[in-house]
Amino acid sequence: MLHRATTFFGAIAALALLAGSSFAQDASPQVARIIHAGRLLADPSTGRVATEQSILVGADGAILGIEAGYVTREGAEIIDQRNRFVLPGLIDSHVHLTHQLGPGQLLDEVQLTSSDAALQGAGYARVTLMAGFTTVADLGAPNDSIFALRRAINEGRVPGPRIVASGAAVTPDGGHADANGLAPDVLDVLRSSAACSGADACARATRRQIQAGADVIKITATGGVLSNTAAGVAQQLTDPELSAIVQAAHMMGRRVTAHAHGADGINAALRAGVDSIEHGTYLDRDSVRLLRQGNRYLVPTMMAGWWVGQLAEQGGVLTPAQTVKAREVGPRLVAMVRMARANNVRIAFGTDTGVSPHGMNAREFQLLVGAGFTPLQAIQMATVNAADHLQLNSVTGRIAPGLAADIIAVDGDPTADVETLMNVRYVMARGVTHKNE
Ligand SMILES: [Zn+2]
Repeated sequence: MLHRATTFFGAIAALALLAGSSFAQDASPQVARIIHAGRLLADPSTGRVATEQSILVGADGAILGIEAGYVTREGAEIIDQRNRFVLPGLIDSHVHLTHQLGPGQLLDEVQLTSSDAALQGAGYARVTLMAGFTTVADLGAPNDSIFALRRAINEGRVPGPRIVASGAAVTPDGGHADANGLAPDVLDVLRSSAACSGADACARATRRQIQAGADVIKITATGGVLSNTAAGVAQQLTDPELSAIVQAAHMMGRRVTAHAHGADGINAALRAGVDSIEHGTYLDRDSVRLLRQGNRYLVPTMMAGWWVGQLAEQGGVLTPAQTVKAREVGPRLVAMVRMARANNVRIAFGTDTGVSPHGMNAREFQLLVGAGFTPLQAIQMATVNAADHLQLNSVTGRIAPGLAADIIAVDGDPTADVETLMNVRYVMARGVTHKNE
């Protein structure tokens, strides 16, 4: 997938490699900052924790190397994390940065402009970064707002995580990501620009999203909990529509990720060739087989299920149509993740934050451990797995030479207690320190 984040950081990585080659050996790369790490989990896929390490970071924001012991370089800033546990910046593969669910959700739809959404997004992006998440995939936001926010963060004008953005989700007319539950004249105005009916129209909607700036295509293959319509959570895009979307996206170098709850929609989407599944609530044996066949990722978003379950019981936020679906889907997600775990389905970390409050993303780690995963496995989902899922392997997810310096630190040992990740004390994103408590 060719998207801005990849090409931009790919270029940085290439420059760093060039600087380290024999070609430039006389002028050894400029070390701008050195993190002294008491304990270091540089590559979560190995689980190996080293002690007393130095991470060398270049002025361009790339990692130059890791050296044993606490080393110094003339002119380099020393960042003391000797009492801390240092690990790669976290990745959330499913957020909605420009919005947060609250009691005013229906009014928000008619009162907020895309500029309001962009400015809200800037605030939530900062909160997300401070929580230790240095990369996110935003899977559903107004095109103008999220693409502008992505650019502002890339250019260093706004603090926030690297954003892989879908913009508007491709959805059937009246489906989960279209406007719903409003008066007909209002619906006519608020209709989604990416809503479609029929294979040709859905291919067109997909192409238009890519033209507008989508890094990845998000589709709503089934109904969803938070659309204000009693339309269930079964398949909503037809098989021909699904195939047309996947073909159009792949031909233009974009992956497709499918929001899907009902097993019929999950399996139809997988058969049509989508690259990953979001939620996966009613995953069945066929889904497991299809996911494993294509080595595809599941992003279970346990947080969303847990949170809407709480909201359904509290009252005051969800509409009656949403409440019925929240009661049904919430508890089911836990059983589904246990089933996925037993069948070795590949999982990437994602929370659907925006449904739950921004900055709480790390609560997902506790839910994953509650479903039977080890803390290290949960950390792998939010680092190496999510980087692989988002095709950012050569950019982030590990602390290694040539990758972006996306680095966080916590007190305590997150491989023993994931709750420590709820309280991230140090955050560096692309070589810049944003938090050091
Ligand atoms: Zn979502």
